[in-house]
Amino acid sequence: MYNRRKFIKISAAGASLAALSNSALAKTVSLKPDTNLPIVISTWDFGIYANKEAWKTLEKGGRALDAIEAGARVPEELDITNGTVGRTGTPDRDGHVTLDSCIMDEFGNCGSVAAMENIAHPISVARMVMERTPHVMLVGEGATQFAVEQGMKKEKLLTPKAEKAWKEWLKTAKYSPVMNVENGSNRPGGKYNHDTIGMLAIDAKGNISGGCTTSGMAFKMHGRVGDSPIIGAGLYVDNEVGGATSTGVGEEVIRNVGSFLVVELMRQGMSPEDACKEAVHRIIKKKPETAKQIQVGFLAINKKGEYGAYAIQSGFSFAVCDAKQQDLLIPGKSYYPAGK
Ligand code: ASP
Repeated sequence: MYNRRKFIKISAAGASLAALSNSALAKTVSLKPDTNLPIVISTWDFGIYANKEAWKTLEKGGRALDAIEAGARVPEELDITNGTVGRTGTPDRDGHVTLDSCIMDEFGNCGSVAAMENIAHPISVARMVMERTPHVMLVGEGATQFAVEQGMKKEKLLTPKAEKAWKEWLKTAKYSPVMNVENGSNRPGGKYNHDTIGMLAIDAKGNISGGCTTSGMAFKMHGRVGDSPIIGAGLYVDNEVGGATSTGVGEEVIRNVGSFLVVELMRQGMSPEDACKEAVHRIIKKKPETAKQIQVGFLAINKKGEYGAYAIQSGFSFAVCDAKQQDLLIPGKSYYPAGK
């Protein structure tokens, strides 16, 4: 068990980052000499644990897609302290845990599930949609039905802890959609903070894949779908250029087709961090007053394995594990309060 918010703070700055607590490093072989590949990066501090699992595939020379699925399953399954992904996700305002997820590979194939109930591993179902159906996206009961047909276990997902939090929320809630649960006591680190794991990996062959999984905005309207299962919004991968993923208020990411935008900006020559920054600035520019109150963060990687992130508010972090360094947790730069 670990506290998601007590992360190791290290200064942000690409290549010169110091490796932390790295017993595994000595064993790590650079599968692509002179580069930091393979590499996996993930949003937030629980990304460290997802990366560790993904790394087991990458260090053997395995495919980035397999690494992503294995990594994303960690917070979906094992992290009983997180209330935002998979089995331990927070319910919607009616008490249903509805999960959103998507995955994308190096060929541009993608799969997605949205508002899916009773299945703990949406990332795996998203992959099944990609590989076993002619479709990209399945939602709601159809997604659950498909998952069960594919052999996934149907189970109740509302944990006692999440149920308690929901009942507490009901006492004071106006039972109206909450656009921004990161306000006030719900700011990053707050009780009802909502986060997503977005993951991007490049394998030893240089191929890129990504995945994204979440229970979405806490106490959202029943049926609400965020950015996380939307290809182009919560995740986008182009094997020629790089990949991007997002976390935060999904509505703003969808409105700006955020992850696709970040990849396209990298295609035009921007660094991953600058591309994320520009995408954040577009959101702020369109709605400056709203932006003061919400969190959106982007994380990106380019084909060379360079990575970067940028968020509207401080508090966003991302985890990195590559052939040179492991267990890194990096505070993402932000527009508020300091950055520009
Ligand atoms: N982006 C997710 C959503 O809007 C939630 C989050 O990342 O905090 O559903």
